[in-house]
Amino acid sequence: MFCHKCGTQNEDIARFCRACGTQLKNDSIASSLYKKVILMDCGRNKLNVIKEIRMLTGAGLAEAKTMSERTPSTLKDNVTEDEAQQIKRTFESIGAIIEIR
Ligand SMILES: [Zn+2]
Repeated sequence: MFCHKCGTQNEDIARFCRACGTQLKNDSIASSLYKKVILMDCGRNKLNVIKEIRMLTGAGLAEAKTMSERTPSTLKDNVTEDEAQQIKRTFESIGAIIEIR
């Protein structure tokens, strides 16, 4: 993967550029960097959580409802840390409990 700042090519698993030390934006497939977003509990606002699940996953109403009830359930797999954190924030803002693994 290439450093977005100085253009040096780094190993795909590298987190920092070996030339300039910039943190690398890893867009390549390096599975260890990829996260799983798990819904632990949907809290009090179940309908909103179901709505968010549908928006996030494209699941149908019944499927999203099942995911909200049979926790822990995986909402999203193979997402970057940034994406995972963003999803976590969205769900936590409506009272759900999210775990990133
Ligand atoms: Zn660099």
